[in-house]
Amino acid sequence: MPSTFTKYIGQFVLVLFIIGFVPALYFAQEFAKLEGQALALEEQKQRVKLDFSKRELVSSLNEAYKTFTTLTNNSLFHRAVSNPNEFNIEAVQDFWLLVARTLGGYSSLSFIDRTGQETIRVDYIRGMAVAITDTGLINRSQYDEFLTAQHLKSGQIVVVGGNQFHALTATSKQPVLHFVTPIDSNGERAGYLVAEVSLEYIYQQMLGTDDPSAGLPSLLNSRGDVLMTLDNHQNIEVFPTTNLALTMPELWQHIESSQQGTLFAKDQWFSFVTISQGQTLANVQPLILLESFDVQALQPLIRSSKNRLLWQMYAMFFVITLIALGCICWNRNHHKNSIESKLARAAMNGMSAVLITDKNNRIIKVNSEFTNQSGYSFDEVKGKQPSIFASGKHNQEFYLNMWKSLQEDGSWEGEVVNRHRDGHEITEILRIQTILDDDGIIQFYVASFVDISQRKELENLLRDQSEKDGLTGIWNRRKFDQEFSSECMRVKRYPEQEHSCLAIVDIDHFKRINDRFGHARGDEILRNVAVCLRTELRESDFISRIGGEEFAIIMPHTSLEEADKVLNRLRVAIFDQYKGELSISSGITDVTESTGDVYQRADLALYESKASGRNLVSVLTSTEMVHFA
Ligand code: GH3
Ligand code: MG
Ligand code: MG
Repeated sequence: MPSTFTKYIGQFVLVLFIIGFVPALYFAQEFAKLEGQALALEEQKQRVKLDFSKRELVSSLNEAYKTFTTLTNNSLFHRAVSNPNEFNIEAVQDFWLLVARTLGGYSSLSFIDRTGQETIRVDYIRGMAVAITDTGLINRSQYDEFLTAQHLKSGQIVVVGGNQFHALTATSKQPVLHFVTPIDSNGERAGYLVAEVSLEYIYQQMLGTDDPSAGLPSLLNSRGDVLMTLDNHQNIEVFPTTNLALTMPELWQHIESSQQGTLFAKDQWFSFVTISQGQTLANVQPLILLESFDVQALQPLIRSSKNRLLWQMYAMFFVITLIALGCICWNRNHHKNSIESKLARAAMNGMSAVLITDKNNRIIKVNSEFTNQSGYSFDEVKGKQPSIFASGKHNQEFYLNMWKSLQEDGSWEGEVVNRHRDGHEITEILRIQTILDDDGIIQFYVASFVDISQRKELENLLRDQSEKDGLTGIWNRRKFDQEFSSECMRVKRYPEQEHSCLAIVDIDHFKRINDRFGHARGDEILRNVAVCLRTELRESDFISRIGGEEFAIIMPHTSLEEADKVLNRLRVAIFDQYKGELSISSGITDVTESTGDVYQRADLALYESKASGRNLVSVLTSTEMVHFA
């Protein structure tokens, strides 16, 4: 059998398991998802970064394009094309130098004639704007931009370049884009305006000044050539001569098949976005922005998420522990209460009759033994006060003492006589116990009754037997002695109010009667004399047999004259009843303090009656006795 402690530990673990099972599953799942979530978050961050870079790139290109259209329509330029004199050309050169310096994005502006020969050119390299003189002008007839431009209609603008191969021009070793448009003069094609836009410049623009440490994605062309990237020191590395299609074919395949995405390759995560044709300018080859981050970069994010989750788990575990402890306490109390209620039920169904009243002393519960004992069912007494059982045997003082004891001591115990439903009296030992609330206010009274009626009857019988005369049924000598001394005490206490008399009655010549008629007849006469005494005397008179044929009568509230009269009436009655064959003699005296004195006086008075011839009543008062003495 496990100890109580082990039992509670077992219950605690069980409750913990039941309540904690689902949260534990939840946390296990959340911990498993941590890396995925961190990756998703990082991916989202990278995507935002890529989107931002993309917007910057597109906006820079659009800006360059807008300027290019303005240059196309410039009147100075058109004048120089239609009339290419030195003055006009210089004016265009000056204007272009100004534009190159102001905008910064053009690494070169040139006009190529129909044969591919440059006629005007301005270079802008590393902050230096230079107009190229005749010797510096080259023939670009074999260059992509020229070859493409020949197929263009008037007013059409194309963008050529973005590839490493095509970017290698005479003027620049950098990846560039060429904005090309045909220029007509007097209805004929005069040549082509070519603006070389530096991708490095645009890339530089994307880097911005807000937070250079945030880095930039690498810029790739549609063949996988890495055009530009940032080195470890945040410096722009132009032309790293890396081709992703060759170095990371799997990643490149993924880039080619999706507009944007994230892929794990060679221990690193890569996020990319493609700026496809049409999103910027017509004919621009797609450009790709590629960002990489290694797994280690996710660690701080995973750690912080893990810590957050751990705290949630601790808090949850703490709450679950509290709930489990609460359950154990509840269970313990419930167990205790159920034992207490079992005990209460056992007490209610026990041997003694139980009655419970509320604080207003209205009956709220009785048990079956109470019904057996009192004859009342619960429905008959419900809501009533227990005073309905009163027999009237107890006075008001009795009940006042009972309530006082209940209020002061919380309990009362004693003997009461109640009345059964059928009217007979029941003597009971009653114990009342109060039940208090936390503030010490009485809420209930629990009374238990034990029926002692039978015992009481037996007691009375025994007492009767010990105090009554077996032959005549009147009080015996023992009882007379008690009663006589009480009467003397009463007189002593209230000498003015109490006037009692003592009479001793003796049958005359009883010995003779016995001898003549036999003992049995003598007994019968004794019984008959006792009946006569009871008949002739008052109910309040105390009649006893104190010797063989000698009776004593205490007559409370009686004067000597009255006593004399009563005794004489008795004497005559007996004498008449036995037709002169039986007589009694009596001696009367008044009751004073001393039992011995009173008895002696009555005895002397009786002696006087005997001595004076019998069948007489003699009186010897206490005053006479004093005189006599
Ligand atoms: P006296 O007039 O002087 O009183 O004469 P007495 O014969 O009555 O007096 P005594 O005291 O000599 O006799 C009392 C007699 O009463 C003696 C006894 O036999 C008789 N006696 C005492 N007790 C009983 C009793 O219980 N039953 C019967 N039948 N006789 C009893
Ligand atoms: Mg006698
Ligand atoms: Mg006698």
